[in-house]
Amino acid sequence: MSDIRISDLNKSFGATQVLKNINLDIRSGEFIVFVGPSGCGKSTLLRAISGLESITSGTLEIGGARMNDVQPAKRGIAMVFQTYALYPHMTVADNMAYSLRLNKTPKAERDRMVKVAADMLHLTDYLGRKPKELSGGQRQRVAIGRAIVRDPKVFLFDEPLSNLDAALRLKMRLEISRIHGELPGTTMIYVTHDQVEAMTMADRIVVLKDGEIQQVGAPIQLYEKPASLFVAQFIGSPK
Ligand code: ADP
Ligand code: MG
Repeated sequence: MSDIRISDLNKSFGATQVLKNINLDIRSGEFIVFVGPSGCGKSTLLRAISGLESITSGTLEIGGARMNDVQPAKRGIAMVFQTYALYPHMTVADNMAYSLRLNKTPKAERDRMVKVAADMLHLTDYLGRKPKELSGGQRQRVAIGRAIVRDPKVFLFDEPLSNLDAALRLKMRLEISRIHGELPGTTMIYVTHDQVEAMTMADRIVVLKDGEIQQVGAPIQLYEKPASLFVAQFIGSPK
C-alpha cells in the first residue's frame, strides 16, 4: 500500500511562497506526470514528497503514515535525477549495488537484485563497464537501475530525459513505461515540461502554474475538457 495523500501543502523559501495549498491523492501503482512551465514548482513538489525539502505547512502521507518528519531514506522512495551522478570509478554493477552495500545487504542478495534490474534494463552485458564506456541512454538506465535495486514503492523522476537527444528520449520514454508495467503496484511520479511525454506516459497529469494546481486528470480529460485557457494552451488542445 503506497497511496500518497498530500493535504493543504504549502512551501515557502523565505518570503516567497512557491507551493500554494496543494491537495493531491495518488493511488498506488499510478503513473502521475507533473507538468508546467519552468519555475512553477514541479521540482520543489517532488523534493517535498521525497523529503529532500521540508514543507512549510500541510501534511504528506504515504500508505496512510504521516511522512512530514520521516527522513528521506525511510520513506520507501527512490529519486532519479536528470544528471545521472554515477560513480565514475565504479563499474555498472557496483554503481547499482552501492546503496545495497551501504545498508549491508548480503552479497548474494545484492547480486540477485542487480541481476534482476540489469535484465529489466537490458544492461546485463554492460555490468563490468565504467560509466564513461556507456552511451547517454545506458547511463540513464544505470541511474534507474540504482533506484530499482532498492525496491522502492514510489519512484520520482525529475526530467530524467532532458539531457538526451530526441530519438533516445522516445526510446527511454517507452522503456520507463514498460518498467512501470513490470513493477505492479509501484507508483511513479514523473516531472517534465514536455507535453508529449506527459500525454503519452501519464495515467493522470497534474498541471501546475505559479505553485498552484490548475487541473488534475487523465490526458484525454485535459485535452477534451481543459479547465482553463492556460491548460488548453499547455496541453495543446483547441480550446
Ligand atoms: P520547476 O521545477 O517547475 O522549474 P522549481 O520547483 O525548481 O520549479 O522552483 C520553483 C520556484 O522556487 C522558483 O521560483 C525557484 O526559483 C524557487 N526555488 C527553488 N528552490 C529554491 C531554493 N532552494 N531557494 C530559494 N528559491 C528556490
Ligand atoms: Mg525543475
